[in-house]
Amino acid sequence: MKVLKFGGSSVANAENIQKVVQIVKNEQQPKVVVVSALGGVTDQLINAGTLAEKGDESYKEVLQALETKHLDTARALLPVTHQSSCLSMVKQHFNELDEICNSVFYIRELSLRTKDRIISFGELLSSKIISAFMSSANIQHEWLDSRKLIKTNNNFGFAAVNFKDTNEIISSTVAASGKQAFLAPGFIASDANSNTTTLGRGGSDYTAAIFAAALDASALEIWTDVTGMMTADPRWVANAKTINRTSYQEAMELSHFGAKVIYPPTIQPVMQKNIPTWVKNTFAPNEAGTVIESAGEHDGSEIITGISSINSVTLLSLEGSGMVGIPGFSKRLFEALANEKINVILITQSSSEHSICVAINAADAAKAKNVVDAAFETELNQKKVDPLKVEEGHAIIALVGDKMKSHPGIAGKMFGALGRNGINIRAIAQGSSERNISAVISVADVKKGVNVLHEAFFES
Ligand code: ADP
Ligand code: MG
Repeated sequence: MKVLKFGGSSVANAENIQKVVQIVKNEQQPKVVVVSALGGVTDQLINAGTLAEKGDESYKEVLQALETKHLDTARALLPVTHQSSCLSMVKQHFNELDEICNSVFYIRELSLRTKDRIISFGELLSSKIISAFMSSANIQHEWLDSRKLIKTNNNFGFAAVNFKDTNEIISSTVAASGKQAFLAPGFIASDANSNTTTLGRGGSDYTAAIFAAALDASALEIWTDVTGMMTADPRWVANAKTINRTSYQEAMELSHFGAKVIYPPTIQPVMQKNIPTWVKNTFAPNEAGTVIESAGEHDGSEIITGISSINSVTLLSLEGSGMVGIPGFSKRLFEALANEKINVILITQSSSEHSICVAINAADAAKAKNVVDAAFETELNQKKVDPLKVEEGHAIIALVGDKMKSHPGIAGKMFGALGRNGINIRAIAQGSSERNISAVISVADVKKGVNVLHEAFFES
């Protein structure tokens, strides 16, 4: 069994979907095909829900435009004789979506649970339209409802998978069915009460990895709009090259530090089962792309595998003269952040014990300020610590490579290259794995920084 996942740009319109289905057709092995929503649809669904919550009736126009987009795609793909049931399926889904958004409009409230319900329509619609197209082309397959197969907790928007239940359900249904081809919507799942949940933005990659692991697949293929994982984001670095092979750890590190081509949680399930994972280009299917596999099988000679960046980062510094005497202050800081599910991207060392500095996503900054100041209220009143310092407008730039630890001097070369180009480094950190070195710089410098480092490490 193989699992193939096609992202939003791969299924953006009828023409692209035809390319996808050709790739599916050429795959001779038994397979599960996982698809994202048509490109841009998830954002528009969120837009509709948010407008409705604000009492702005233009959500109706947003839904209308989405309905037209899906109907047009179905019409362009299907021979007239096969259209009617697919078009009425699309209309039914939009009736339901209209009703949900109308309710949001009347009560002026969009809970995370309702939001998941709304955005689940993107993948439901794309997968059902593609399924109808495959049937019209006589490609035998079964449509799977990922909501029934992937079980999660009820952390709506970013639900955690219950692997025990999920693996059991997938093996007892999909694997046991003996069928050869399946098509499933990515991104969506459900909790113990059958409420729809989602796996986080970009989560279709993860859906595919979950299927691959549960089925002990021979390979996972992530089909996207670029040829593999590259040495840097090709939208920024004109000379970015495809990485031929990389290890699970490097891929995880690159995606964690912003390489959007793979959603970070994707690697874990395939790494555990040692399933080779390919990143390939839907628009250049004959190019090899990247294979991600265990480090032992990967003998790349490059010391640095790639450069990635996170472009909206806020630095938090907790400082104060009394901090030295407060036991466990860093533990309390991290607990306060963790309780609010605020992800700490990196922690920077400071020479004195008087301060600790962490980087978080800019979107979490306001919440972080509140919870940390609340956690240290007593010490704040006693003037042992200062109010949490919040510095916006930063970015993190990371160099990633398994072999870095055995090659001293990488950090020096990195900081030298940035310094010579006038890029000021606000903080540095080295991952405990010694598989990455990251620097916090101003967001205004990040594009230049990525290019400077790419030139220094890959182009000289
Ligand atoms: P999909 O819709 O197929 O999931 P994404 O937009 O999520 O595709 O990811 C593909 C995009 O990731 C590429 O178009 C590219 O601009 C971006 N990207 C960022 N960093 C990298 C990288 N290191 N290698 C390849 N692509 C990258
Ligand atoms: Mg993606």
